Amino acid sequence: MNLTDLQALEQRYLMRTYKRAPVEFVRGEGALLWDAGGKEYLDFLGGISVCSVGHCHPEVVEAVREQAGRLMHTSNLFYTEPMVRLAERLSASSLGGRVFFANSGTEANECAIKIARKHAHRRGISAPEIVSFERDFHGRTYGSLSATPALAANPDLAPMLDGFRAVPFDDGDALHAAVGESTAAVLIEPIQGEAGIYPLSDETLVAARQACDESGALLIFDEIQTGIGRTGSLWAFEQTPVRPDVMTSAKALGGGMPIGACLTSPEAGEILEPGDHGSTFAGGPLASVAALAVLEIVDDAALLRRVREQGAKLRDALLALDGVEAVRGRGLMLGVGLEDGFDAAAVGADLLERGLIVNVPEPGTLRLLPPLTVDSDQIERAVATISAALLSYATHEQASL
Ligand SMILES: *Cc1c(COP(=O)(O)O)cnc(C)c1O
Repeated sequence: MNLTDLQALEQRYLMRTYKRAPVEFVRGEGALLWDAGGKEYLDFLGGISVCSVGHCHPEVVEAVREQAGRLMHTSNLFYTEPMVRLAERLSASSLGGRVFFANSGTEANECAIKIARKHAHRRGISAPEIVSFERDFHGRTYGSLSATPALAANPDLAPMLDGFRAVPFDDGDALHAAVGESTAAVLIEPIQGEAGIYPLSDETLVAARQACDESGALLIFDEIQTGIGRTGSLWAFEQTPVRPDVMTSAKALGGGMPIGACLTSPEAGEILEPGDHGSTFAGGPLASVAALAVLEIVDDAALLRRVREQGAKLRDALLALDGVEAVRGRGLMLGVGLEDGFDAAAVGADLLERGLIVNVPEPGTLRLLPPLTVDSDQIERAVATISAALLSYATHEQASL
C-alpha cells in the first residue's frame, strides 16, 4: 500500500478528527524516523512529547518484548509486580503518596478531578468548582475537556460538566480572586504545552499555592507534557517554588506504550476509596514495564543535566536566527515565536519537506519537543534546517511583494 492508498482508506474509514501530514512513517531509531520511501527525518516532536527516550530505545523494546511473551494482561482484580514497582518508583520520585494508573493523559486528569470533587464534598462543599487558566489543555474526555476552556466552548459538544471556570493566563490576582469557599481545586499546566509553550511565572505559581492553602482547595499540576524529564528535572514543579498536592503524568511515561498516572501527596492519596474509580487496562504489566524502563533512563542526574544544557544551547541558537522573535519554555520544551509576517504553518510544512519534524500549535509558533537523548550534531542540524526554512520563507515573501 502506498500513501495514496492509505489516504483513500483514511477518507473512507477514519473519523475526520485529525488532519494528517502526507507522510507514512515505517521505522524509528533515537531521534530519527524513516518514511516508506526511505527518506530520513529528524524528529523534534517525538510523537508530541511521547518518545522522550527516542524511538525504539533498546531497553524499552527489550522490556516490552520480554513481558509481551510472558503476560500481557490480568486486570486490576489481581496482582502483577511491574505495576506495584512502578507505583513505588513514581511515588518516591514525586509527591510521596499513592498512585492511580490510567491509559492516557485525559484519564489521569479524570482521576485528579474525582479526587478534587470528593475532597470538596468531604469539606461540605456541595457545588465544587475547579479553576484553570484560559488556553490550558487537560484532555478530551468530558471532565478534562470541561477544564480546557478553548475546546469546551465548542457548542456542538455541549453541555460541558458544571463546576469549571477559567481565569486569564498567568494572572495570579485573578486566580486568587477566583479561588474561594466552593473551590475544590486549581488545575493548571506549569507550562502550557498545546497552547504554544507558555510557562507560568513563579509569582503566579506561588499565588496559586497560597490561594489553595487559604481555601483548603487542592493544587493540581497537569505534568502530562512537562513531566518525565522534559524540562530538565524529572518533574517541572521541581524547578518552581511550589509543590502541588496532586499531579498527573502520561505521554512520555510509557515511552510509546499508552499509560497515564495520577500521583498524590500522602494526604490526597487517602481520598479515593473502593468503588470510586477504576479502569480495566490501567497499570497492566506491558505498559508498566515500559514505564519502568523509561524511568530507569530518564530519572538520572546526568541525563537531566544534559537536557538543561542541550535546551540552553538550542534556545540560544534559535534566538540568534533571523525571523525568530522569542523562544519560550524550559529544557527541551521550547516554543519558537516567529516574527510578524512569518506563516508558521507554511514554515512547518517546509521543515517537514526538509526532513525536520516540528509542530505548529498556534499561528506564529513552532513547537519543539525533541527526544531528551538528542545529541549536539542533531541540535545543530535542526537549527540549520530551521534557519534555511526561515530564510527561504522570507526570500519567497519578498519576491512575491
Ligand atoms: C497531551 C496532554 C493531555 C491529554 O493527554 P491524552 O493522552 O491525549 O489524553 C492532557 N494535558 C496535557 C498538558 C497534555 O499535554
